[in-house]
Amino acid sequence: MRRVLVAGNWKMHKTPSEARVWFRELKRLLPGGGSLLDSEVALLPAFPILPYAREVFGEGPVAYGAQDVSAHREGAYTGEVSARMLKDLGCRYAIVGHSERRRYHHETDTLVREKVLRLLEEGLTPILCVGEPLEVRERGEAVPYTLAQLEAALEGVELAGPERLVVAYEPVWAIGTGKNASPEDAEAMHQEIRQALARRYGEEFAARVRVLYGGSVNPKNFADLLSMPNVDGGLVGGASLELESFLALIKLA
Ligand code: PGA
Repeated sequence: MRRVLVAGNWKMHKTPSEARVWFRELKRLLPGGGSLLDSEVALLPAFPILPYAREVFGEGPVAYGAQDVSAHREGAYTGEVSARMLKDLGCRYAIVGHSERRRYHHETDTLVREKVLRLLEEGLTPILCVGEPLEVRERGEAVPYTLAQLEAALEGVELAGPERLVVAYEPVWAIGTGKNASPEDAEAMHQEIRQALARRYGEEFAARVRVLYGGSVNPKNFADLLSMPNVDGGLVGGASLELESFLALIKLA
């Protein structure tokens, strides 16, 4: 019912020229250029790389998108990139609320919600990141903390369909640390997230929204994570940068 999504969050890695070569190679190595895969593959590189993603992947089966978007529609906002610009570049997705943006750029739940709205207005699908830091998990408050982020970002947000939203559960302590959440812990949180979505949008709707796990996903742990009924794919940082490991993840999906 839910198509597995393998999404590569490249963060601030690779130049446009490096990415272009990598994209071509990926397309060449994917069965049918990606058209014969059961799962969906998406790449989320830095903004300047997106024109090359369009050049190589076009409207084909491999999706691409951005790592962030402005909360504003247009105007005097130096350094910002609008949802309309991303749409023009053919982006299907954009990440919002990544913990690195919340932490280093002081993004609040209110801002994250605005970004969700801007993306939806342009027909892009937000990949909404939520997840708790280590001290919150140790206090036993991971669930309420994570659900509060989810609820705040979706407050009053209408969705035309379940494919208009992807949620990524990314426990902060698992990102880039080599310490992934156990499949059972991930599953427990994904169930909570799906129940919260059900309260907001109804059971049937929530049953069709994809909830990804992110945080030190690699070819060794991905199969176990994916075997959980409520884990619908991965938002992958480090392991999405090398063709070999990214292809290995796609193979498992
Ligand atoms: P990681 O990053 O796979 O390198 O832990 C995941 C993310 O931040 O999306």
